[in-house]
Amino acid sequence: MSTQTAIIPDAKFLKQIDKKIKVNANLCYQCRKCSAGCPMSYAMDYTPAQLIHAIRLGLKDLVINSKTMWMCSSCQTCTTRCPQEVDIAKIMDTVKIIAVSEGIKPPVSSVHIFNKAALRNIKWFGRMYELGLIGDLKLRTFEFFKDMGLGVKMFLKGKLKIIPSLSLNRTLTTFNIFSRVSKKEKAESNN
Ligand code: SF4
Ligand code: SF4
Repeated sequence: MSTQTAIIPDAKFLKQIDKKIKVNANLCYQCRKCSAGCPMSYAMDYTPAQLIHAIRLGLKDLVINSKTMWMCSSCQTCTTRCPQEVDIAKIMDTVKIIAVSEGIKPPVSSVHIFNKAALRNIKWFGRMYELGLIGDLKLRTFEFFKDMGLGVKMFLKGKLKIIPSLSLNRTLTTFNIFSRVSKKEKAESNN
Protein backbone atom coordinates (compact mmCIF):
# COMPACT_ATOMS: atom_id res chain seq x y z
CA MET A 1 0.00 0.00 0.00
CA SER A 2 1.35 3.44 -0.91
CA THR A 3 2.27 5.80 1.95
CA GLN A 4 2.69 8.85 -0.28
CA THR A 5 0.72 11.97 0.67
CA ALA A 6 -0.85 14.09 -2.00
CA ILE A 7 0.29 17.72 -2.08
CA ILE A 8 -2.68 19.99 -2.49
CA PRO A 9 -1.68 23.31 -4.09
CA ASP A 10 -3.18 26.51 -2.75
CA ALA A 11 -4.12 28.47 -5.86
CA LYS A 12 -4.74 31.62 -3.81
CA PHE A 13 -1.25 31.83 -2.31
CA LEU A 14 0.32 33.69 -5.24
CA LYS A 15 -2.58 36.15 -5.25
CA GLN A 16 -2.33 36.58 -1.46
CA ILE A 17 1.28 37.75 -1.87
CA ASP A 18 0.54 39.89 -4.93
CA LYS A 19 -2.35 41.58 -3.09
CA LYS A 20 -0.21 42.35 -0.05
CA ILE A 21 2.87 43.80 -1.77
CA LYS A 22 2.00 44.15 -5.45
CA VAL A 23 4.83 41.82 -6.54
CA ASN A 24 3.99 39.26 -9.18
CA ALA A 25 6.10 36.12 -8.68
CA ASN A 26 4.65 34.76 -11.93
CA LEU A 27 7.05 36.98 -13.85
CA CYS A 28 9.88 34.69 -12.78
CA TYR A 29 11.30 32.58 -15.63
CA GLN A 30 13.69 30.60 -13.39
CA CYS A 31 17.01 32.02 -14.59
CA ARG A 32 18.27 31.47 -11.00
CA LYS A 33 20.33 34.66 -10.93
CA CYS A 34 18.78 35.39 -7.53
CA SER A 35 20.02 32.11 -6.08
CA ALA A 36 23.46 32.49 -7.65
CA GLY A 37 23.99 35.85 -5.94
CA CYS A 38 22.37 35.07 -2.60
CA PRO A 39 24.99 35.09 0.19
CA MET A 40 22.71 33.05 2.46
CA SER A 41 21.54 30.33 0.05
CA TYR A 42 24.03 27.84 1.57
CA ALA A 43 22.01 27.93 4.80
CA MET A 44 18.55 27.75 3.21
CA ASP A 45 16.51 24.60 2.64
CA TYR A 46 15.22 26.01 -0.69
CA THR A 47 17.14 28.56 -2.74
CA PRO A 48 15.39 31.87 -3.49
CA ALA A 49 14.56 30.68 -7.05
CA GLN A 50 13.15 27.41 -5.71
CA LEU A 51 11.03 29.27 -3.17
CA ILE A 52 9.66 31.57 -5.87
CA HIS A 53 8.87 28.53 -7.99
CA ALA A 54 7.09 26.85 -5.06
CA ILE A 55 5.01 30.01 -4.57
CA ARG A 56 4.03 29.92 -8.24
CA LEU A 57 3.00 26.28 -7.85
CA GLY A 58 0.86 27.18 -4.84
CA LEU A 59 2.89 25.03 -2.45
CA LYS A 60 1.94 27.18 0.51
CA ASP A 61 2.63 24.63 3.25
CA LEU A 62 6.11 23.97 1.93
CA VAL A 63 6.85 27.69 1.64
CA ILE A 64 5.55 28.88 5.00
CA ASN A 65 7.26 26.04 6.85
CA SER A 66 10.56 26.61 5.05
CA LYS A 67 13.54 28.14 6.81
CA THR A 68 14.64 29.99 3.65
CA MET A 69 13.00 33.32 4.48
CA TRP A 70 14.25 33.11 8.08
CA MET A 71 17.84 32.82 6.81
CA CYS A 72 17.39 35.78 4.41
CA SER A 73 19.42 38.78 5.52
CA SER A 74 17.41 41.25 3.39
CA CYS A 75 20.58 42.25 1.54
CA GLN A 76 18.51 42.83 -1.67
CA THR A 77 21.08 41.17 -3.97
CA CYS A 78 18.42 38.90 -5.45
CA THR A 79 16.06 41.80 -6.14
CA THR A 80 18.84 43.78 -7.79
CA ARG A 81 19.90 40.87 -9.99
CA CYS A 82 16.47 39.75 -11.14
CA PRO A 83 16.05 40.49 -14.89
CA GLN A 84 12.28 40.33 -14.41
CA GLU A 85 12.30 42.88 -11.56
CA VAL A 86 10.69 40.47 -9.15
CA ASP A 87 11.25 41.92 -5.66
CA ILE A 88 12.35 38.64 -4.10
CA ALA A 89 13.56 40.25 -0.86
CA LYS A 90 10.10 41.74 -0.34
CA ILE A 91 8.54 38.35 -1.01
CA MET A 92 10.83 36.82 1.66
CA ASP A 93 9.59 39.36 4.23
CA THR A 94 5.97 38.85 3.22
CA VAL A 95 6.15 35.08 3.45
CA LYS A 96 7.59 35.47 6.96
CA ILE A 97 4.69 37.74 7.93
CA ILE A 98 2.14 35.29 6.48
CA ALA A 99 3.77 32.34 8.27
CA VAL A 100 3.72 34.11 11.65
CA SER A 101 0.16 35.39 11.18
CA GLU A 102 -0.96 31.82 10.41
CA GLY A 103 0.61 30.49 13.61
CA ILE A 104 3.57 28.68 12.04
CA LYS A 105 6.40 28.16 14.52
CA PRO A 106 9.48 29.74 12.90
CA PRO A 107 12.00 26.96 12.14
CA VAL A 108 14.84 29.37 12.95
CA SER A 109 13.49 30.73 16.22
CA SER A 110 16.58 32.83 17.02
CA VAL A 111 15.88 35.06 13.99
CA HIS A 112 12.27 35.57 15.01
CA ILE A 113 13.31 36.40 18.59
CA PHE A 114 15.92 38.84 17.29
CA ASN A 115 13.44 40.54 14.93
CA LYS A 116 10.93 41.05 17.74
CA ALA A 117 13.59 42.31 20.17
CA ALA A 118 14.96 44.76 17.58
CA LEU A 119 11.48 46.15 16.88
CA ARG A 120 10.73 46.53 20.61
CA ASN A 121 14.04 48.33 21.04
CA ILE A 122 13.38 50.76 18.18
CA LYS A 123 9.82 51.35 19.39
CA TRP A 124 10.97 52.38 22.87
CA PHE A 125 14.14 54.32 22.03
CA GLY A 126 13.36 55.58 18.53
CA ARG A 127 16.65 54.08 17.37
CA MET A 128 18.76 51.02 18.13
CA TYR A 129 20.09 50.85 21.71
CA GLU A 130 22.53 47.96 21.33
CA LEU A 131 23.10 47.15 25.01
CA GLY A 132 19.34 47.06 25.60
CA LEU A 133 18.92 44.76 22.61
CA ILE A 134 21.63 42.41 23.91
CA GLY A 135 20.00 42.34 27.39
CA ASP A 136 16.57 41.62 25.90
CA LEU A 137 17.98 38.80 23.74
CA LYS A 138 19.89 37.22 26.62
CA LEU A 139 16.78 37.20 28.82
CA ARG A 140 14.68 35.58 26.09
CA THR A 141 17.20 33.00 24.88
CA PHE A 142 18.97 32.25 28.21
CA GLU A 143 22.23 32.28 26.23
CA PHE A 144 23.88 34.55 28.78
CA PHE A 145 27.49 33.86 27.80
CA LYS A 146 27.12 33.57 24.01
CA ASP A 147 29.38 36.07 22.16
CA MET A 148 30.57 37.45 25.48
CA GLY A 149 34.12 38.04 24.13
CA LEU A 150 32.77 39.96 21.15
CA GLY A 151 30.58 42.07 23.44
CA VAL A 152 33.54 42.99 25.63
CA LYS A 153 35.60 43.96 22.56
CA MET A 154 32.77 46.19 21.26
CA PHE A 155 32.34 47.77 24.67
CA LEU A 156 36.06 48.54 24.94
CA LYS A 157 35.96 50.16 21.49
CA GLY A 158 33.08 52.38 22.61
CA LYS A 159 30.54 50.69 20.31
CA LEU A 160 28.14 49.87 23.14
CA LYS A 161 26.77 52.83 25.06
CA ILE A 162 25.71 52.16 28.66
CA ILE A 163 23.03 54.86 28.61
CA PRO A 164 20.67 55.05 25.61
CA SER A 165 20.27 58.24 23.66
CA LEU A 166 16.80 59.41 24.66
CA SER A 167 14.48 61.85 22.93
CA LEU A 168 10.80 62.16 23.78
CA ASN A 169 10.05 63.56 20.35
CA ARG A 170 11.75 60.63 18.61
CA THR A 171 10.01 58.05 20.82
CA LEU A 172 6.61 59.64 20.17
CA THR A 173 7.29 59.61 16.44
CA THR A 174 8.20 55.89 16.44
CA PHE A 175 5.21 55.05 18.67
CA ASN A 176 3.05 56.82 16.12
CA ILE A 177 4.59 54.80 13.26
CA PHE A 178 4.09 51.51 15.15
CA SER A 179 0.50 52.39 15.95
CA ARG A 180 -0.26 53.23 12.29
CA VAL A 181 1.29 49.93 11.16
CA SER A 182 -0.68 48.00 13.76
CA LYS A 183 -3.96 49.63 12.61
CA LYS A 184 -3.11 48.83 8.99
CA GLU A 185 -2.35 45.20 9.87
CA LYS A 186 -5.67 44.87 11.75
CA ALA A 187 -7.56 46.39 8.81
CA GLU A 188 -5.82 43.97 6.40
CA SER A 189 -6.59 40.93 8.57
CA ASN A 190 -10.28 41.94 8.66
CA ASN A 191 -10.47 42.03 4.85
S1 SF4 B 1 16.33 36.17 -10.73
FE1 SF4 B 1 14.14 36.65 -11.04
S2 SF4 B 1 13.57 35.57 -12.92
FE2 SF4 B 1 15.52 34.72 -12.23
S3 SF4 B 1 14.94 32.93 -10.99
FE3 SF4 B 1 15.16 34.65 -9.59
S4 SF4 B 1 13.10 35.52 -9.41
FE4 SF4 B 1 13.11 34.21 -11.22
S1 SF4 C 1 17.69 39.44 0.18
FE1 SF4 C 1 17.69 37.41 1.14
S2 SF4 C 1 17.18 35.99 -0.49
FE2 SF4 C 1 17.82 37.90 -1.44
S3 SF4 C 1 20.00 37.65 -1.84
FE3 SF4 C 1 19.81 38.67 0.15
S4 SF4 C 1 19.83 37.00 1.65
FE4 SF4 C 1 19.40 36.08 -0.37
